[in-house]
Amino acid sequence: MTDAAGSVFAHASAEGFEQLAFCHHEPTGLRAIIALHSTVLGPGLGGTRFWPYATEAEAVTDVCRLARGMTYKHAVSGLDAGGGKAVIIGDPRTLRSEALIRAYARFIDGLGGRYLTAEDVGTTQADMDLIRSETPYVTGASESIGGSGDPSPATAWGVRCALDAIAERLWDGELAGRHVVVSGVGKVGAALVDHLVAADVRVTVADIRERAVLAVVARHPGVAVVEADRAHAVPCDVFSPCALGGVISETTVTALSCAAVCGSANNQLEAPADGQRLADRGVLYAPDYVVNAGGVINIAEERHPSGAPYDRQRAWDRVAGIADTLRRTFDRAEADGTTPAEAADRLAEERIEAVAAVSRIRTSTTTTTRTTR
Ligand code: NAD
Repeated sequence: MTDAAGSVFAHASAEGFEQLAFCHHEPTGLRAIIALHSTVLGPGLGGTRFWPYATEAEAVTDVCRLARGMTYKHAVSGLDAGGGKAVIIGDPRTLRSEALIRAYARFIDGLGGRYLTAEDVGTTQADMDLIRSETPYVTGASESIGGSGDPSPATAWGVRCALDAIAERLWDGELAGRHVVVSGVGKVGAALVDHLVAADVRVTVADIRERAVLAVVARHPGVAVVEADRAHAVPCDVFSPCALGGVISETTVTALSCAAVCGSANNQLEAPADGQRLADRGVLYAPDYVVNAGGVINIAEERHPSGAPYDRQRAWDRVAGIADTLRRTFDRAEADGTTPAEAADRLAEERIEAVAAVSRIRTSTTTTTRTTR
């Protein structure tokens, strides 16, 4: 016990985590971990992943990695949200029950708003609706009950806008006629293809699910198809990873035949060094967490500072700002002589530091009188 507890604290402290909450409810079999990496910019916002982790240590590592990523994504996107994430350990197909989701929601509620959850791999919008019945600290519930719904269309719109910033850098702003390979045509990838076809972009798609490919081709007969394991090697202008992470690695980088990489997948670089490997090959990399922030930008609009209800047009206008964030990232990389991935990290860290410094200013509402004994 001491060893396990010791290693968890060592892990949390090395990564600068604020809080790890372990949630257990025997009757439902709930075992969940909520990780709050940083709440400097606002409540920790991030989805709940329901996944059959082989070990508890694996779950801790994953939730910490994901929560830290959310801190950077929100910071660089200009959101007043911190980095949080949660995992429920188990197979959602067999473990999910109404009582388990409700029990989990009560643990979220107990954090008093420090953590705001959302949908992620293994959880559904129906889960978010159920969580909403136990706590207000949930985002992305159905529009019919005041939420912003599925974030995927907003994420796809964000990738589309990011491609404009790439086109400005590489092709005088002209995206029409360029060739984009979309690897993974699930919720985000398929919606991205719709935008690309509408913009007269030549599109090739790949997916390990034939049904997903057939659905896209039925809508857009002009779209070409390639085997999933060859997608990254297709000669094209932009390779757009919209499936899993780790797709850019020491091995795949050498096979790339594109001018830029820009997609929605999280953690596209298998290792930080892959950012430099891309640069060495002359491939412009649009950092994943800058490009795929559309979903969280959309969700954040549910909690507009004015208290105004969620407005889809306002949210999508804000998502379009991803193009500006990417321009700033490329500019910063150029100025510092570094990679876009490193530049995005610096921009995020600088914003967190700047906002943290501002919070040292005492305001009338936060002033408390210290009593001396
Ligand atoms: P999804 O599950 O709907 O789609 C993923 C698709 O990728 C599926 O069709 C799957 O069959 C396919 N796929 C899996 N392995 C593949 C492979 N090796 N080659 C090609 N295709 C493969 O997921 P999604 O919601 O569309 O998300 C896609 C990616 O974007 C994920 O990495 C996700 O974490 C990230 N992301 C999504 C959102 C969002 O709003 N949905 C937001 C931010 C980031």
